[in-house]
Amino acid sequence: MEMRIGGKDVPSPDDAWIEVKNPATGELIDRVPAGSAGDVAEAVDAAVTAFGDWKKKSMRERGMTLFHAAEKVREQHRELARLLTMEQGKPLREAIDEVRGYANILEYYAGISAQPAGETVRLGATGDAIVVREPLGVCGVIIPWNMPVLIMGWKTGPALLAGNTVVLKPASTTPLTNIRLVRILDEAGLPPGVLNVVTGSGEVVGEALVNHPEVKKVSFTGSCATGRRIRELASVQVKELTLELGGSDPMIVMADADIDSAVEGALRGRFYNAGQTCTAVKRLYVHEKIADEFVQRLKTRTSALNVGNGLGPKTDMGPLNSADQRERIIQLVDRTRERREGTILTGGGVLRGKAYESGYFYHPTLVTDVVPGSCLLTGELFGPVLPVMAVPDLDAAISAANDTHYGLGASVWTKNVHTVKRVFDEVQAGIIWVNRHLTVPPEVPFGGVGESGSGRENGYHAVDQYSRTKTLLLGW
Ligand code: NDP
Repeated sequence: MEMRIGGKDVPSPDDAWIEVKNPATGELIDRVPAGSAGDVAEAVDAAVTAFGDWKKKSMRERGMTLFHAAEKVREQHRELARLLTMEQGKPLREAIDEVRGYANILEYYAGISAQPAGETVRLGATGDAIVVREPLGVCGVIIPWNMPVLIMGWKTGPALLAGNTVVLKPASTTPLTNIRLVRILDEAGLPPGVLNVVTGSGEVVGEALVNHPEVKKVSFTGSCATGRRIRELASVQVKELTLELGGSDPMIVMADADIDSAVEGALRGRFYNAGQTCTAVKRLYVHEKIADEFVQRLKTRTSALNVGNGLGPKTDMGPLNSADQRERIIQLVDRTRERREGTILTGGGVLRGKAYESGYFYHPTLVTDVVPGSCLLTGELFGPVLPVMAVPDLDAAISAANDTHYGLGASVWTKNVHTVKRVFDEVQAGIIWVNRHLTVPPEVPFGGVGESGSGRENGYHAVDQYSRTKTLLLGW
């Protein structure tokens, strides 16, 4: 598949390609150009040219284009979801959710385009002020491989609605569905150059995008290390930044919780997308009164999960997205075992057998008796491994939940409103769920504190983050 610059398919100028392989089978699906700094410059030029007219359109006109695109995405959602499963690995059912979620995002932003924007400030006898928002210009959007479609929506939806133009750099293992979507948006009426996609490595294409002087804002989702690097590069030209750098979300289950729904919440919260979700349940704290029963039920459900090729009709969990990602998980669990930092209750290794030998499969894993400071708790545990800890009371749960540099999301499972209030007030996170975990609807702001990054996505807040105020002050 080719890149998309200025509304045209662009092949690799120097015949350098990146192979995209199915993580379930190792089979080659397609290849994309290994782009260069020159390709980034060409895409930014196209985006600069397109910005002139795009910013002059009304929000409503821009919203209508997003709406038409959403209709086309819905028409083609099965085909898009299949491609997503093939390059990313997730079960088809989850890929369908993600593609529909992308259409929801476009529809949400199309919907709010009809709301009046801006404000008037009365200054008394001296005058009045009119405050409008204007777009920033060309935005560089760098996205990861875990939720490539949804995250593309979170960033490009508000950026485009606000009147910016975009150069998108997809992850090298999952560029295909992103490229298809850019084509669909073009077909839906997006003027050439408003949304461009340049494929290639993070070091070459990603950094060239961040460094380009015409790129006024960078929005990135991925690892803390890359986020820090991008912040460092972007600070030279004082660019606007949104950084979503993952999390280590705690889930707190109190003794009065509905155990059945909490077990299902933990199962989905951890093993959805093979655990490769920024808001996944990465640490589970269960009140000691119910811990034994809870863990037994969770173990039964976890060991019954059907792991396999995401295209299989019975698959509950697919492979990890790449050999590197699986290797990280293998090492963390092996280290836990060697250092006796926890007890592997179920799972704890790669799947064996012919059906699994060419893919990056790993058993859904539960680890109990995890000691504080274990390697499973300190970093971002980005795979199908769940550390479970018993806690004596809410104080201990809150203190353990906050024992992290991250702060993206957290959930509490209880029927007690006072417990909810305490968790909401005291746990450091951008979103607190009650009796659920994981969901991030387009209507509500989403983002973290601490090393989870800065800035907010979704909701009207995101449109504000892709625009700035400009004031007209009228003196009377
Ligand atoms: P990265 O942060 O390296 O990759 C994310 C995106 O950034 C990709 O598009 C990548 O391109 C690009 N990129 C890489 N290096 C640079 C750079 N120097 N400048 C600009 N862009 C760059 O994450 P990994 O894929 O290496 O995953 C490592 C870990 O990060 C995971 O195990 C997980 O913990 C965390 N992560 C968290 C995510 C989240 O949603 N919270 C999502 C993805 C990862 P390319 O693909 O070409 O390398």
